[in-house]
Amino acid sequence: MIKATFRMIVCKGRDQLKKMRQANLIVARVLEHLGQLIKPGVTTADLDLVAEDMIREAGGVPAFKGYQGFPASVCASVNEQIVHGIPNGRPLKAGDIISLDVGVKWKGFYGDSAQTFPVGKISAELHKLLKVTEESLFKGIEQMVLGNRVSDISASVQKHVEKNGFSVVKEFVGHGIGQHLHEDPQIPNFGRPGHGPRLREGMVFAIEPMVNSKGPGAKILKDRWTAVTIDGGYSAHFEHSVAVTKDGPWILSQLN
Ligand code: MG
Ligand code: MG
Repeated sequence: MIKATFRMIVCKGRDQLKKMRQANLIVARVLEHLGQLIKPGVTTADLDLVAEDMIREAGGVPAFKGYQGFPASVCASVNEQIVHGIPNGRPLKAGDIISLDVGVKWKGFYGDSAQTFPVGKISAELHKLLKVTEESLFKGIEQMVLGNRVSDISASVQKHVEKNGFSVVKEFVGHGIGQHLHEDPQIPNFGRPGHGPRLREGMVFAIEPMVNSKGPGAKILKDRWTAVTIDGGYSAHFEHSVAVTKDGPWILSQLN
């Protein structure tokens, strides 16, 4: 007997999308608020506490806390850290960049979004890294229309990043999201267009380019969570949870 690997993409109905919108609005408000708090001297542990309070006050649950043993409510990744940084007591410095990734479960549905913020004044090169990474996220989102395929998103992200002289991380990928934080399909930030499942109404994907200022290589630190660049280059991360609708992509984690 042949055992097939069965992959299934769950399409969400209208009521489910409404719940996902609410979960993602909590995420969006938390990210906006944390962004206002970021300045030299603040620690990522401070930000984590604020985030957890806000999420619980909104009736949600921090999705990352306890996920496969992750010890905090948000992922906080500074400078050469790519993703999955653990909040700690080290103060942020002017010139740093900090990627905050926030996940919320609300009434059984998940929201997931990330953003990289400057701390004080940053260099022109880092400013460009943040801008290009965010632009590449929106290049990917533009591809989330009926009839396109998953790798159209991937190819579009990669093209924009590489055209601007940066590199995409290949070890970590975007993902479907819904009643689980990570659902099928996986959405790499690289690849040739025209491959993978066709996009259908009600699919919801977390698109999340991770972009390095130098080479694409990544490794995991001894804490078993923090992913960093191998060559010490800086890294940025922008993510939105987005639904495919017949009217085009609906960015669930965007305010208003
Ligand atoms: Mg995330
Ligand atoms: Mg994600």
